[in-house]
Amino acid sequence: MYMIKSLFINTTILISFITVGSQFFKDAPLNGKTILKKRIATALGCGILGCILMIFGIQVTDTSTILDLRHIAIIIIVYLTGFYPSLMTTLVICIFRLTHFGVTTSSLVAVISVISITLGCNVIKELMEEGWKQWLWMNIYSIIVVTLNLNVFTSKTSDYLLRIFLFLIVSIFVGIMTYNLLKYVIESNKLFRKLRIQAKKDFLTGLNNVREFDISLNGMMENSKTNRGILTHIILDIDNFKQVNDTYGHPAGDSILQQLSNVLRESCQYDKPVYRVGGEEFSILLQDNSLKEGIELAEKIRKNVEKFNFVIPDGTRIQITVSLGVASYPETASSKDRLIKQADEGLYKAKHSGKNSVGVIE
Ligand code: GH3
Ligand code: MG
Ligand code: MG
Repeated sequence: MYMIKSLFINTTILISFITVGSQFFKDAPLNGKTILKKRIATALGCGILGCILMIFGIQVTDTSTILDLRHIAIIIIVYLTGFYPSLMTTLVICIFRLTHFGVTTSSLVAVISVISITLGCNVIKELMEEGWKQWLWMNIYSIIVVTLNLNVFTSKTSDYLLRIFLFLIVSIFVGIMTYNLLKYVIESNKLFRKLRIQAKKDFLTGLNNVREFDISLNGMMENSKTNRGILTHIILDIDNFKQVNDTYGHPAGDSILQQLSNVLRESCQYDKPVYRVGGEEFSILLQDNSLKEGIELAEKIRKNVEKFNFVIPDGTRIQITVSLGVASYPETASSKDRLIKQADEGLYKAKHSGKNSVGVIE
């Protein structure tokens, strides 16, 4: 009963560590690009996990051999990272084994067994493709090493055989569970990152969406107010787009919107935020650029669109034009609402002066 309790506690510790640990990898996954500090922290974390598993392990009768699931901590670090971090984890476990439980023959054998598990699992990692088979072989190999280690020190009573049997069952079961839990947390972190990006993007064009426009506008406006800076807003609307849709069809219109978004990004040299704020309306926010600079960029965009050859899915080349409105805080507009309204009024003016132009209300 004591053993089951102990292995149960070991299992819950493993689950808690993986669940809490995964929170540190929400922003970026653990891979070759992970910064050194984070890799070291992960390796030390797995080392500490191994130590805690040992503390809650069971002392096998008549020796100081401890039975626990520390090998899973090593498998985790080898599986997720590689050789050097796993050496660090192993070092932590070995030092703790010797200092906390005393330097005995059984401790030394335990150290050798931990090192063998680390080296063996690294060899398996090198030889096999990443996936459940690799994990399974690491698990089987580790269980064999732990069992051999126990074999050296324990008298072969029926009690011992029962312990081995229980250990095998629990190790295999927890090994499979840990693998699935790891896979689950890695996958949900990946999905979380993907959703976080998608929540800011417009599905059709990949530009920032209107929600992101509101957030950015509020942030930039605050920034301009506190730093007495400038915020210029350009709004753009395609001329006669309804006609394009009516003539060539909606898919052709969608394709034009996608190509136009590339023209906009390029015209801003990829360093200004471009937003799709409506069906065929776009905005650009220029922090620290004056009204004059805003008008210059709007004019550049207008010309770039005018000379661009849009190609629709059936191969037809189409020319389109755009109208733009520009406003700037605090030069022409005194507030955030005025900044939006004035850019709109500028656009309206451009539409009413024959389209394909830039309008400003001063
Ligand atoms: P104006 O020069 O006055 O802007 O004329 P317009 O025809 O462009 O008029 P308006 O801006 O009111 O038209 C918007 C049109 O844009 C209506 C709709 O058919 C089209 N549109 C809006 N969103 C989409 C979209 O996601 N895909 C496609 N293909 N068309 C869209
Ligand atoms: Mg419109
Ligand atoms: Mg339009």
